[in-house]
Amino acid sequence: MDSYQINVDGKEHNFLVFKRLTEPCHQCGVEACGKEDILWYETAEDKVSLVYDGSTIDIVVESFLSYTDIEKSELPVFISDWNMGKGWSDCWVYQGYSLDVGDLHCAIAML
Ligand SMILES: [Zn+2]
Repeated sequence: MDSYQINVDGKEHNFLVFKRLTEPCHQCGVEACGKEDILWYETAEDKVSLVYDGSTIDIVVESFLSYTDIEKSELPVFISDWNMGKGWSDCWVYQGYSLDVGDLHCAIAML
C-alpha cells in the first residue's frame, strides 16, 4: 500500500492508503484541487485509509436528501450531522473525528 503524510504544525500524520479515489486536477495538477479528505480505521500498527475528493460526500448526501422522503429523525447520525453542519462534517482537525462504524455502514447503504 502507498503511504500518505499530512504535516500539521510540524507534527506528521502517516496513513497507509488502501484506496485513492482522487486524481490530479487537469488545470492545476493538484490532487482533487487540494480538497482531499481521508477516512481511516486504525490497526495496532497503522491507520488504513481511503483518500477521496472532499466534495464527493457533500454532493452525494445533498442529492440524497433532496430526493428522499425519510423523516429527518430517522436518518443515520452520519447524514443528519452533515445536514446540520455539525459532528464529522464540521471537523477540520487532522487528528480526525470518530465515526460509529455501524452508523457509517447504514449511511452508505442508504446512499
Ligand atoms: Zn485544480
